[in-house]
Amino acid sequence: MADRVFVAVAWPYANGPRHIGHVAGFGVPSDVFARYHRMKGDAVLMVSGTDEHGTPITVAADQEGVSPAALADRYNQVITEDLADLGLAYDLFTRTTTANHYAVVQDLFATLHRKGYLIERTEPGAFSATTGRALPDRYVEGTCPHCGSDSARGDQCDDCGKQLDPTDLIDPRSASDGEAPVFRESNHFYLDLPAFAEALREWIEPRTDWRPNIKKFTLNYIDELKPRPITRDIDWGVPIPLPEYADRDDKKIYVWFDAVIGYLSAAIEWAHSTGDPERWREWWQDEAAKHLYFMGKDNIVFHTTIWPSLLLGYGADGGYSDGRPLRLPDNVVSSEFLTMEGRKFSSSRGVVIYVRDVLDRYQADALRYYLTIAGPEQQDTDFTWSEFVRRTNEELVATWGNVSNRVLRLAQQLGGTVPEPGALTDDDRAVRDTVAGGFASVGELIESAHFKAALQEAMRLAGETNRYISAQEPWKLRKTDEARARTVIWTALQCTHDLARLFAPFLPFSSQRLHEQLGHDDVIAPQPVVTTNTDAHGDEHRVLRLPEGATWGRWASSDLPVGQPLSPPSPLFTKLDPAVVDDELARLEARASA
Ligand SMILES: [Zn+2]
Repeated sequence: MADRVFVAVAWPYANGPRHIGHVAGFGVPSDVFARYHRMKGDAVLMVSGTDEHGTPITVAADQEGVSPAALADRYNQVITEDLADLGLAYDLFTRTTTANHYAVVQDLFATLHRKGYLIERTEPGAFSATTGRALPDRYVEGTCPHCGSDSARGDQCDDCGKQLDPTDLIDPRSASDGEAPVFRESNHFYLDLPAFAEALREWIEPRTDWRPNIKKFTLNYIDELKPRPITRDIDWGVPIPLPEYADRDDKKIYVWFDAVIGYLSAAIEWAHSTGDPERWREWWQDEAAKHLYFMGKDNIVFHTTIWPSLLLGYGADGGYSDGRPLRLPDNVVSSEFLTMEGRKFSSSRGVVIYVRDVLDRYQADALRYYLTIAGPEQQDTDFTWSEFVRRTNEELVATWGNVSNRVLRLAQQLGGTVPEPGALTDDDRAVRDTVAGGFASVGELIESAHFKAALQEAMRLAGETNRYISAQEPWKLRKTDEARARTVIWTALQCTHDLARLFAPFLPFSSQRLHEQLGHDDVIAPQPVVTTNTDAHGDEHRVLRLPEGATWGRWASSDLPVGQPLSPPSPLFTKLDPAVVDDELARLEARASA
């Protein structure tokens, strides 16, 4: 693996609080991946932010009677605080409403326009008969021309699955007031995606490290590329950077085009904030850098065709390129979907567990554990409260929590410092080598994005440590052979010390606590902070970021020094009352019927 890794995480949409399905798919996996690479000593840059433009924001703002900017700001705050409390250690988690982001997006647009990659087209658009405002495709409803369903939308028919345009609908009506929309000619810019088909194919075909189905699906998709609109009839978005549009408040850049450029603009903002504004180039223009994108499965081709097309089109000629092209994605790490108690998440129907609901009542590491061990990494999975309680109690508390607690308790009985060991037996060396081997085995699994298997391997090593202690019975040895008891406790402490770092990418809060209980005062698993940042254009805004000078535990076996004072044990994890299940299900029902 390269020593320079760019971790690009999907941007959560700021039209409401995020539910646990959102952080299950890409939030927690990307953080596990980035924390591991930092511990390994790699130069990691991990960025994301809230996606704050587009129709879902304006519609939610209208419903609540506030401005789109106010609505986006409220949910940016909620989401930023949720992600901070979940321990997602971004170098920078910013937002798409910053002056820096506008400047980068406008430079991409202007460069693509200058190079002839944008096509102007006039097409009929739907406008509300009552307000005169543009009606987004999905807010036009009507009868499907293919199957006759009377609840088809202007983007597609859910009953037959066909893609539609609003003009295809029979008896079209506005979803908000039921009035028939007015169709007017409207001028828009389209990205000429077919112009990139050949370059995309040349880039994708030699790849051997993509999952075969992703590669095949992407190559098929390239055959069908069509020009894609990048402007909209909307008043909330990044302004179109052409003189004739400077004063137009009815047309803006389409949200998809602006949001995906966030991966680049966030890296540029991060570099500026470090005092070295050119530093982002080390990840975006250095040949040795690797770019990994984390997202849900519904966004794969977007990141394997459309975003690379933008980067190819921008090339070495953009205002930020400085004569060198920008790096294309090296790989995508996609997840499947999470359902909840057998149902699809739906905020509007109240079938939802928000990130905050869990963090207010349970440990962040318990949620991180569940989402990694039982999340939708390879297949759709179901979150149930009974499974959350069972896994917390039977796995997290009973295995890893029990081992660390047991070892520290035994060490206290021997004087509360790391004891001096005698000669090691084969059993001592075997368990020590087994656990130390986790830095290779767990690490390889994380690098290949097998996060569930990686955490299972760490749990297996905790179990091996527990079995060693049970077999050696140091509590009996203490009365018969204290020197041997000291050697056993020394061995168990060294295993626990390594395990704290092996678990740190997955469970950073408890690993840091255990590291301190083992007598250290340095930080192995830093946590991000919510603060403000001022970008290169003087725009000050809320961000989530790692504290300056953050330090990481080393991803390698190391010894606890003999004589180091140890803290009395205190449980790392809270055992949950089984009554939690009924309480939470009752809360869910109350929300769904509200
Ligand atoms: Zn249909």
